[in-house]
Amino acid sequence: MSIDYAAFRRELEEFARKACPPEIRAVVAAGQKVTKREYQAWQKICNAKGWGAPSWPKEAGGTGWDIKQRLIFEEVMAESDCPPLYHHGLGHIGPVIIRFGTTEQKARLLPRILDGSDWYCQGYSEPGSGSDLASLQTSARREGDEYVINGQKIWTSHAHEANMIYMLVRTSKEPKKQDGISLLVVPMDTQGITVRPIKSIDGWHHLNEVFFDEVRVRADNLLGEEGKGWTCAKYLLERERLPPANVARLELVRRQVTRLVDEAAAAAGARRDFSTLRHKLLLCEADVKGARVLMANATDDMIHQRPLGVQPSVIKMICGECAQRLTTIALDAVGPQAAQRFLADAGEDVAEATWIQNYMFTRSRTIAGGTAEVQRNVVANELFGA
Ligand SMILES: Cc1cc2nc3c(=O)[nH]c(=O)nc-3n(C[C@H](O)[C@H](O)[C@H](O)COP(=O)(O)OP(=O)(O)OC[C@H]3O[C@@H](n4cnc5c(N)ncnc54)[C@H](O)[C@@H]3O)c2cc1C
Repeated sequence: MSIDYAAFRRELEEFARKACPPEIRAVVAAGQKVTKREYQAWQKICNAKGWGAPSWPKEAGGTGWDIKQRLIFEEVMAESDCPPLYHHGLGHIGPVIIRFGTTEQKARLLPRILDGSDWYCQGYSEPGSGSDLASLQTSARREGDEYVINGQKIWTSHAHEANMIYMLVRTSKEPKKQDGISLLVVPMDTQGITVRPIKSIDGWHHLNEVFFDEVRVRADNLLGEEGKGWTCAKYLLERERLPPANVARLELVRRQVTRLVDEAAAAAGARRDFSTLRHKLLLCEADVKGARVLMANATDDMIHQRPLGVQPSVIKMICGECAQRLTTIALDAVGPQAAQRFLADAGEDVAEATWIQNYMFTRSRTIAGGTAEVQRNVVANELFGA
């Protein structure tokens, strides 16, 4: 039976309008940072509707939607100022559990992601092992039916709020550094785990260092085969770099910045010329439209199970760089005097401060999840076979 996508879109629009609490939509509409409170509340609402995991198959508790439906979901939610569903559980480790987990692990771990009880963070990066992830040193030795973990992770987003971490550990030393890596899921309240905050330039606390000192975890928290975690890690990274949400959210930011420029122009009247900013906005609009076409092509490839090639890298680069340009336009629109206020009293709850925080935050978009330079290498390798 063919799917009536237009009717599906209308159903989603009605749900978004009725089910998403106005106070949550207000946070998104204002471009403010969505916190765990809003994410969890929205996860519960979507899950109660049966839409807690748009990208998962039905047998795992997901919607079973096709990729086009998932794209429409992301677009409608962004258009309606609803928050995205939190990605670390649903978008990253969830699909890995579905693909590589045992029946017992699926039954134990997946429902808790779906109903928002488990909030995961990602323990990949280490000091000295970011782009060169396979050089990681955090170790896990097997003792009976336990692994004992020692080492350190860094840049761990939301580790201070998460109750679970999925992490890459070295379970043996092999000549090829990609071998001997394993993937574990670990409860954050396990003895021996210490979380230390890293305050970032945007003034928000989302980054952390996480230390592991003789941390004991049951061996049935190993996902996939011991020593073969690199396969799971790569499977996860492919998903990390191509979330349909990125493009839909970019369009949301574009609309927000356009509104901001319109308001600033109306307030300034003849005192200030906004034509340069408007020109830059138009160029961003073209980029967002281009990203949508690329995303549609990638979607088509996924539907027909064709390899995605460099598309995730290209889309990630465009979205990251365009988000930076849009927030630079927003900063230009609110003006340097707002920056002064923000610096004088960080965290002051004014709309302008939000845009300065967003400007600062989006600097990380070309670093997190694989730097722009590394993505360019991926593309160059494909084009020139370097
Ligand atoms: C906001 C934010 C959130 C993050 N959240 C998480 C998280 O939740 N979990 C997690 O595990 N990690 C997280 N990270 C870490 C992120 O994945 C790493 O920062 C990223 O992989 C880069 O690694 P690095 O910082 O060690 O830089 P490095 O790899 O040391 O790179 C330093 C510089 O050298 C360049 N470079 C490195 N190798 C090459 C090369 N071969 N060719 C050309 N240039 C190169 C890089 O592009 C970069 O400019 C986060 C980072 C940020 C900024």
